[in-house]
Amino acid sequence: MSFEQNILDALPWGLVYTAQDGIVVFWNKTMADLTGISARQAKGKLIYHWIAELKDLASNTSVPFSREGYWQSFMVNCQDHEGGTLWTFTPEDHLDRVQSDFVSTVSHELRTPLTSIKGFVDTLLRSRRQLPEDQQIRFLRIIKNQADRLTRLVEDILIVSKIQSGQLRNAPQRLDLADVIDRVLENLSQKTAHHQLDLNLNEDLPAVWADQDRLEQILTNLVDNALKYSPKNTVVALKAWMDPKIPGKLSISVVDQGIGIPEAFLEQIFNRFNRLDTPLTREREGTGLGLYITKSLVESLGGQIAVESRESLGSTFTVYLPTAPDILPGPIQSERGEAHA
Ligand code: ADP
Repeated sequence: MSFEQNILDALPWGLVYTAQDGIVVFWNKTMADLTGISARQAKGKLIYHWIAELKDLASNTSVPFSREGYWQSFMVNCQDHEGGTLWTFTPEDHLDRVQSDFVSTVSHELRTPLTSIKGFVDTLLRSRRQLPEDQQIRFLRIIKNQADRLTRLVEDILIVSKIQSGQLRNAPQRLDLADVIDRVLENLSQKTAHHQLDLNLNEDLPAVWADQDRLEQILTNLVDNALKYSPKNTVVALKAWMDPKIPGKLSISVVDQGIGIPEAFLEQIFNRFNRLDTPLTREREGTGLGLYITKSLVESLGGQIAVESRESLGSTFTVYLPTAPDILPGPIQSERGEAHA
């Protein structure tokens, strides 16, 4: 079986291609699993033969489908493609489950700081006269921290929703990595005080081609995690270099000497809301959205992210980002001085 066929079969949606007259030409494995109709059976027949409702379908509609008397519904999307139609079928219970998992995790994450804010405000309202001033200030600080935590969470959720709806926009420009790192470390200065920072940027690094806010967020998330998941007084290193094996990309690593990540979990840490169930992780504040956002931002800038980690020895997250083009595209002046695109 071809490489392409394997990929199409591995998609989590049913994928079907029909020729102009509605005859099935392609039917992937997921579609066969969902419907119980094999590709061999389906091909060469009209798609409406299998799912009559598709005849007057508006895109993004759900259609019922009966399999051996058991009804399920699919969210169907269709697009004209090269003279035929490309159909995707997503089982609705799957969509509902992903959606409701997300909503319940978000609600839980929002409730924790809100409960704490409400508790401290109630105490202050009820008995501030009996409380010494330093105690009152301590409570107000906790309230402020929890409100900051809520703000961060809401900002993360907003970015996640932009990523998922494909509305993340970048404004890439030439950036000097050393300047960006300075700003990131400045913003994290309160948190870096208990670690030894080791900055190792190769000389003559080319400029990187990225959106400034996005790049700052990527590096902030990685350095913040390195600090969060490693003991005090250990080294957190930031390195950047050009790897001759990866032309056109700048390599940037954040290395820590922390708790590390068991191999079995390495893939999962980039998923939404995935946090390792270890005592140190539980102790540290976090939503499990940071690495999902980081990976999405890196990819939106045309880069990749990789992780290497050994339990209790530490982790290295490496980001590969495109370098800025040598000659920027711009209007070319003709001999008569007119600009051409
Ligand atoms: P969180 O908000 O929990 O930090 P992230 O998405 O940034 O969420 O990270 C997901 C999980 O991956 C963390 O909860 C932690 O268990 C693990 N992790 C991330 N970075 C590191 C690191 N540098 N060292 C060890 N574990 C890490």
